[in-house]
Amino acid sequence: MPPCQYRTGKMLGSGTYAIVREAIHITNGGTFACKIINKQLMEGREHLVRNEIAVLKRISSTHPNIVTLHDYFETPRNLYLCFDLCTGGELFNRICSQGHYYEGDAAALVRTILTAVKHIHDANVVHRDLKPENLLFRTQDEDADIMIADFGLSRIIEEEKLNVLTEVCGTPGYMAPEIFQHKGHSKPVDVWAMGVITYFLLAGYTPFDRNTPKEENAAIAAGDYRFEPEEYWVNVSETARDFIRACLTVDPAERPTAAKALEHRWLASPTPHFVPDP
Ligand code: ADP
Ligand code: MG
Repeated sequence: MPPCQYRTGKMLGSGTYAIVREAIHITNGGTFACKIINKQLMEGREHLVRNEIAVLKRISSTHPNIVTLHDYFETPRNLYLCFDLCTGGELFNRICSQGHYYEGDAAALVRTILTAVKHIHDANVVHRDLKPENLLFRTQDEDADIMIADFGLSRIIEEEKLNVLTEVCGTPGYMAPEIFQHKGHSKPVDVWAMGVITYFLLAGYTPFDRNTPKEENAAIAAGDYRFEPEEYWVNVSETARDFIRACLTVDPAERPTAAKALEHRWLASPTPHFVPDP
């Protein structure tokens, strides 16, 4: 479908390689989110976008919490990926405006995201860039569905080994230790990222923030984080902390799979445990 069938509107966001604009289909009036990737900027890395399309073709529309790729096309200058529009914005902005999430709400959200991650893993795809900027709310409603977006760094893997992928990529604060230790990595990196996201949801800041990237990498490699400052954690149960600890297991072979993490008692019970400190 040629791009002239769409009129682009306001900017919705931008990321590493793309800007995303609202797009209105000229004939049917439907609104979409159009990810516009400048080929010149992507020079030599165009395969990333082709990969994103290949992955989306495999899993888009197969789960209610994964963004739907509606259409794609290219011009000599740009590549266009047209998605169903998520009008509720990024989880990142909701966390920032709320400060943090209450534990019950956080558990419900994590359960939904992790169920979609399990679905992605079952299709032999590793996302590799899970973070609150890539998790979008379908609408502005408070209880809107959360959607996993941005499959730009994802990979289809052929084998079940834990070290099939080797490039160093991702967003530093969410990257699992094995990624930058060049040991090879696979699905467990997404469970690690879920641990970082859960920590962020409950505290309002991320666990491995340090003054320099070098210190941050060292902290991640050692799994060096704390549930501190205390005042941010007083209302967070031991069960929630245990869930985060499990996801942030440094050894990927010991880290729970998405399926296993979903069985954790923080997520397994409909009303998550809440044990305030005495
Ligand atoms: P990048 O690979 O450059 O990070 P993303 O796919 O993450 O690109 O898109 C960048 C930003 O655009 C997202 O963080 C989000 O704010 C916005 N965005 C992406 N897809 C949609 C969508 N379907 N609906 C609404 N906003 C979107
Ligand atoms: Mg992104």
